[in-house]
Amino acid sequence: MPSSSIDADLIRQSATVLAAAIAAGEVSSREVVQAHLDRIGEVDQAVHAFLHVCGAEALATADAVDTKRAGGEHLGPLAGVPLALKDVLTMRGVPTTCGSRILEGWRPPYDATVVERLRAADVVILGKTNMDEFAMGSSTEHSAYGPTRNPWDLDRIPGGSGGGSAAAVAAFEAPLAIGTDTGGSIRQPAAVTGTVGVKPTYGGVSRYGLVALASSLDQAGPCARTVLDAAYLHAAVAGHDPRDSTSINAAVPDVVGAAQRADVRGMRVGLVRQLDGDGYAPGVRQRFAEAVEILTHLGAEVVEVDCPHFEYALGAYYLILPSEASSNLARFDGMRYGLRAGDDREASVESVMSATREAGFGPEVKRRIMLGTYALSSGYYDAYYGQAQKVRTLIRRDFDAAFDKADVLISPTAPTTAFRLGEKLDDPLAMYLNDIATIPVNLAGNAAMSLPIGLSPDDGLPVGLQVMAPAMADDRLYLAGAALEGALFDRWGHLLIEEAPAL
Ligand code: GLN
Repeated sequence: MPSSSIDADLIRQSATVLAAAIAAGEVSSREVVQAHLDRIGEVDQAVHAFLHVCGAEALATADAVDTKRAGGEHLGPLAGVPLALKDVLTMRGVPTTCGSRILEGWRPPYDATVVERLRAADVVILGKTNMDEFAMGSSTEHSAYGPTRNPWDLDRIPGGSGGGSAAAVAAFEAPLAIGTDTGGSIRQPAAVTGTVGVKPTYGGVSRYGLVALASSLDQAGPCARTVLDAAYLHAAVAGHDPRDSTSINAAVPDVVGAAQRADVRGMRVGLVRQLDGDGYAPGVRQRFAEAVEILTHLGAEVVEVDCPHFEYALGAYYLILPSEASSNLARFDGMRYGLRAGDDREASVESVMSATREAGFGPEVKRRIMLGTYALSSGYYDAYYGQAQKVRTLIRRDFDAAFDKADVLISPTAPTTAFRLGEKLDDPLAMYLNDIATIPVNLAGNAAMSLPIGLSPDDGLPVGLQVMAPAMADDRLYLAGAALEGALFDRWGHLLIEEAPAL
C-alpha cells in the first residue's frame, strides 16, 4: 500500500493495513490514533458509540509504540492500531459503568486480562463504548446514558448489547473493537451494522475483569470491518489465563492462518432448518440464499441439518441468564462500588442496599433480577432452572449431531435488519426474539461469527450471516468467513469502504 493512499484516508483502512504501514514507517501510530480521535470528535455526537474517550492516554500509548519502532523493536501485527473497548471490561483508572448508573464514577483498580493482552500487543485503546445496561438487551436503548445510533440510519438501533462497539467500527471511529457475547451481543450488532463480529469458544478468551452477566455464557471477542482483522484481534486476546477457572488450557486455533487461507473447498456446510423460515424478513432470507449459492460455487458441500431443540433455546436462555445474572448482580449493594443512595444517619444496611438498587438499576435489569430470583427460589428451582439446564444439554446434543454431518453450520445472524429506535422498547419479548439464531451457540459453548453479506433489498440496510463451529474449532469460522467475504467483495465491494450513509 503506497504511503500516499495511507495518508489520504487513515480511518478507512483495515487494521491489518494500518499496522503494516506503521511497522514500515509510512505513518506513525500517533497520526493514526489522532485521525480516529478527530473522527470521534466529528461524528460521535450523532452516533454516541463512546461513553468515555481517553484521548491523552491513547496518544501517549501511540507515542510509546512509535518510540519502539524508531528503536528498531519488532512490532506485533496490530501494534499502534486503535481499538474501542466495551464498557463491561475493566481498565485500570478508567471509568467502567456497564451502561449503568449503579457503577457511575467507579474506576477499577485493575486491568482485565483482555486489556492486559491488548497492551502487550501494543494496541491503543481509544475509550469505552456504550452498551445496554449490564449487557441486557439487543438495541443499546437500555443504556442508562442514552442509546447509540446506527451509522447506516441514525433513527435505527445499532444492535445490542454491544451496539457501541459495532457502531464505532461501522462509523470509522475505530478499526477494531472488543465486545462481549452472552446471547448474541457481538454478532447481532455486527449483523445490523455491516461489520464482522466473533463469539469465540466459551473459555477461549479470559473473563477475568469482564463484569459478569451470566458466567456460564459470557465470552469476549473481536469486532472489525474485515475477517482477517477480526482474526488478528482474536489471536491477540485469546488463550489460557489461570485467573479464570473456566479458561481452556489448550493452544488457540490458528485463526489468522485460516483467515489467510480463506478456502471452503470440500468443507461441509450445514444449513440449520430451524434457523430460517417465516420468522426471518424476506430481504434477509434473499441475501442468505444468495450467500449459500456462493458457498456452493466456491466448492463447499451444502447439506441441511436438523436441530429440533433449538426451538426451546430462547426459553431456556431466559431462565439460565436471569438466574445467573440475579446472583452476579447481588454484588452491587451500595457498599463496594459506585452509587450509594439513601445513606443518612438512621439508615440500615438493608435500606441503603434497597435504595441504591432502586435508584441504580434500570427497568430491564430489575425485570431480569426478579425473573432470576423467582426461577432460583426454593420449590421452583427444579421446575425452572433445573429444567432449563436439561434443555441446554439437548441443544448441545443437537449441535454434536449436526457437526457429525457438517464442519460448520450457517444461518442468518438476526431475523431482521436494524429496527427503529423505540420500536421494541416496550415489548421485551419482541426484543428477546432478535437473538433467536444466536443464543443456541452460547448455550452449547460453541464458537460463531457474523459477517456482512450485503444490503437488504427491503430497506438497503446490512444483513449478516452467522457461521457456527464446534468448541475449539474457531479457525473454521475464519476459513469459511474469509472465503465468503472474498467472493462477496466482487459483488458489493467492501460494504464499509463506502461511507455509512447516515454520516
Ligand atoms: N440480547 C441478549 C440479551 O439481552 C444478549 C445479551 C448479550 O449477549 N450480552 O440477553
